[in-house]
Amino acid sequence: MTAGLHRSHRVAGALVGSAVGDALGAPFEFGPPGAFSARFPAPARGAATEMCGGGSLDREPGEFTDDTQMALLVARSLVERDGLDEADLFERFATWAATGPPDIGVQTRAVFDSGLPWDRAAAEHFARTGRAAGNGSLMRTTPAAIWFSRSGTAATVDAARRISALTHGDPAAGEGCAVFHELLRVALDGGDPLAAVPAVLELVAPSERERWATVLAPDWEPSKATESNGAVWPTLGQALWALRHGRDFAEVLRLVVDLGGDTDTGACVAGGLAGAVYGMGGIPMRWASVVHGRVPGHGERVWRLADLLRLAADLDGKEFFQAETGVIPKVGPAEVLPGIWAGNLDGARWSEEDFAVISLCRLAEPFPHTLHRMAYLTDNNHNVDVDVVLADVLDDLAALHAEGHRVLVHCHGGASRTGLVLRAWLVREQGMTPAEATAHVAERWPHLGLWNDSFTAALERLAASRQ
Ligand SMILES: [Mg+2]
Repeated sequence: MTAGLHRSHRVAGALVGSAVGDALGAPFEFGPPGAFSARFPAPARGAATEMCGGGSLDREPGEFTDDTQMALLVARSLVERDGLDEADLFERFATWAATGPPDIGVQTRAVFDSGLPWDRAAAEHFARTGRAAGNGSLMRTTPAAIWFSRSGTAATVDAARRISALTHGDPAAGEGCAVFHELLRVALDGGDPLAAVPAVLELVAPSERERWATVLAPDWEPSKATESNGAVWPTLGQALWALRHGRDFAEVLRLVVDLGGDTDTGACVAGGLAGAVYGMGGIPMRWASVVHGRVPGHGERVWRLADLLRLAADLDGKEFFQAETGVIPKVGPAEVLPGIWAGNLDGARWSEEDFAVISLCRLAEPFPHTLHRMAYLTDNNHNVDVDVVLADVLDDLAALHAEGHRVLVHCHGGASRTGLVLRAWLVREQGMTPAEATAHVAERWPHLGLWNDSFTAALERLAASRQ
């Protein structure tokens, strides 16, 4: 896990991580184990990435599914009602369900088809069928886990059960959501969710505890599951298993998607937890940049990365800064290194659309460019993950450059973050020392800014790692 991360990076990582997992897993839904790694044996960082689209519902690359659609309904209800209003949330779900989303869960559809009110529909369905321990309430609960994490253990566990009960009358599903909420609360506070498992199990209703203890134990693995991973126990169990065995966000998601079965929900749940653990900067930018989707029944708005980042901050009760175009005069683009161009925000925004753009500042709106990657690189002292983000940017830059794209790197002013990437490229690709790289870039890019000492330190570490 990434120690010392600012909470805002973890909150953004949780919300975006869950949507990214959903979209990444969707094309592999109901497929066999190992399909993801068979198709992508190595990271795909060029124009075509692992966000490949397709699948049984023929989705666009990066398009999320019902998991994130319902999660967004939870998020919007909490923010707009300033807390949990079960009748309001149930109504939002019902409006969505009435549009007939093709991927709506069997359990969830049955509850809304009943026409019963919010406080009876799920309970009566469970009483009648006795079957309601699907993962459909767990998959949508990351926004609520963020919102209630600020109110402490008892409040977040209680809210988890109440929101789950709107569609899932089985207490097993509610306890799964309660466990997830508390694990995410721990992770957002910078703690280790895996170490928290024994304490979290104490919160579980005694009648459900043994089954949860089994799938959350350190020696449990997905092959020991007694249900398909459409059930709530293996879905959360495999998320923790992947968190235990993966070394970074991408590996956690790869492990889960490779299990096959309900891959979008599996990766959505694991992605929420892993995003909190590794932070927004730990999510590969080639995945986060393309995540998007609509929420049927709730307008034509297309939700994208910038919207999710803003929403994550809202859920945590925080202000959020995103760079608007038209504020400072255009700089660039200019070719600073062979095939690698630089600019500031408006220089990049209004550049020719065949540039492959790498944005290093947070944008209020994405650009029209077909190839556009957005890195989460902070130009302040809250960037303990700068090495991870820089490596991700340089690896994508190398892949896009090798494919023959003109790559345009920019940030808000085109000075500090842009300068870091240009200098790091020379350190990595040409073996220059940080001083040589700085002089080389300064000669060709007069806008270079050198005020951030943590960037210089990152360059020194990069140079040392190459020796
Ligand atoms: Mg789904």
